[in-house]
Amino acid sequence: MCGITPCRPSRTRSNEIQGLRVTRVLVVEDEPAIAELVAMNLRHAGYEVALAATADEAQADIDRELPDLVLLDWMLPGSSGLQLAQRWRSQTRTRELPVIMLTARHAEVDKVAGLDAGADDYLTKPFSPQELLARMRAVLRRRLPEALEAALESDGLKLDPATRRVTYTDAAGTTELRLGPTEFRLLHVLMAHPERVHSRAQLLDRVWGDHVFIEDRTVDVHVKRLREALQPAGLALRLETVRGAGYRFVPLPQAPSRS
Ligand code: CA
Repeated sequence: MCGITPCRPSRTRSNEIQGLRVTRVLVVEDEPAIAELVAMNLRHAGYEVALAATADEAQADIDRELPDLVLLDWMLPGSSGLQLAQRWRSQTRTRELPVIMLTARHAEVDKVAGLDAGADDYLTKPFSPQELLARMRAVLRRRLPEALEAALESDGLKLDPATRRVTYTDAAGTTELRLGPTEFRLLHVLMAHPERVHSRAQLLDRVWGDHVFIEDRTVDVHVKRLREALQPAGLALRLETVRGAGYRFVPLPQAPSRS
């Protein structure tokens, strides 16, 4: 919380509640009243919020731990939000970071500049909390489907984040698959982006959280466990190893080999 004292980036150590990953949003805004209003609305909607009042604070927070989404004010002391967005897009670690720019400007040319800089969306102040939340959901749906509670289904395999259940349905009926919390998150990330190859580093970021001190090999261990958990339904082959690149989830059990 920040009142009359300068805002400090605040965040809790773990963005996990009872095994459920909470979506972490970094709000970069130098006007305390707006920052607090936005933070209050986001917390009320179930998001974890970190605050940064300057470009440097925002960068320091990003360096510590990647958020799931950034709300980025255009006009900031020091580097502008636009420069920050451009920098993040140019760096491997932050290239895919979902960013929504917030600004008092409304000219079309600024909007184009913001989107050109790599912002996923653009919101002109003043905006309603409902509009902000709707835009955030739209960006997360597109960029980070696993951050949403929607159930995922693929050829009989169903993963429901709300009930934490994974089931497989075929002609013989429905089977519940028993997955540990890490394997559940791993499957969630992989199913949310079918066909996409995830490197071990990307999976570490998405499943364990950024900057967690575990080795890449840990990913392999959990992929192996996930395959074992999927095996009873004959689904282990849907989790493909892509040599030298990582892992991917393929939609069809009898996926033809890709040359
Ligand atoms: Ca500002």
